[in-house]
Amino acid sequence: MEENYPNNYEIKFKDNIDERSLDIVKRYWSFDGAEFKERPGQISKDFGWTHNKLIPVLRENSAVLISSTCLHCEMSFATQVYSQNEFLSLLKDSFLCPSCDLLLQEKKEDFRIKEAQRIKEQLNLQLENAVNKRLWEQFNLAENVLLLKLIESNELKIDFEKLKKPRFKEEKELLERFTDQGLIFCFKKPNSSNYSFKFSNRLKHNIEKHISKLKKETSKKIPKDWSRISFKLLRNKTRKDKNTPLFSGTVEFKQDIVIKAGTKCLYGVWSREDENQWLTITPVSDIIVAKNKTIEYEAEPIRTILKRFLNNQDFIE
Ligand SMILES: [Zn+2]
Repeated sequence: MEENYPNNYEIKFKDNIDERSLDIVKRYWSFDGAEFKERPGQISKDFGWTHNKLIPVLRENSAVLISSTCLHCEMSFATQVYSQNEFLSLLKDSFLCPSCDLLLQEKKEDFRIKEAQRIKEQLNLQLENAVNKRLWEQFNLAENVLLLKLIESNELKIDFEKLKKPRFKEEKELLERFTDQGLIFCFKKPNSSNYSFKFSNRLKHNIEKHISKLKKETSKKIPKDWSRISFKLLRNKTRKDKNTPLFSGTVEFKQDIVIKAGTKCLYGVWSREDENQWLTITPVSDIIVAKNKTIEYEAEPIRTILKRFLNNQDFIE
């Protein structure tokens, strides 16, 4: 038994189909050229069935063939469909015969592979370019250390939603700058919430070298031991009472002076003829290793050396 639709759709019923099945199949496949008149849910409901019971009845008693002409080779061919959804989606698609469709899929796959390869090569070029141009050099020591940690970890759980919050602004911007410069490429791992980093194989070694160079430069910038601070204490000529200082003035040093915690210093104040005073502060380690707190409590030989040092006129100015 056959029923032809005005278009190229054909519904075939099983021979000797019983009346109830025929009714079901006709209702299910009743198509007005744009949509099906009934949804399977309604038909199942009318029979008090579940959807699962309806499908076998349809399959056993009917087959729907859509006849088409291939848009590519113009060959006629028929496609069998089993459900309203399959039917509708096939109508929406352009029709291609199975062999042309296979050819198109192969072409698409071929294009997809080539495109993936092109993107990969472009990315590698970008990552190599960052190394050739030594782009990490525009980042400071702390930023380079962070970059090294990122690429050493190779993988990181990054919550980009969290990074949008203002308090993570700096971290977010830094990550973006690394990416913008092509130093790293951050991508989401398939089937994981983690992100991985892609970078040039030459990057790690170069950053390590740069970090150690920056560290050396930084340590050079901190002046090493200073040997003596000395300057004149100018008498405060406008002093009115004991609440104003005896000596006051400004002093400017010619070099950085860093007094490390725990550095014991010897200080001395000398009277000068013009009523000014002269102050010196000298790290004890520059004179002798001494542990006592004041000169009078130092052991005799050290006390002598320290006093001699303080009394040495060449030492002043
Ligand atoms: Zn074809």
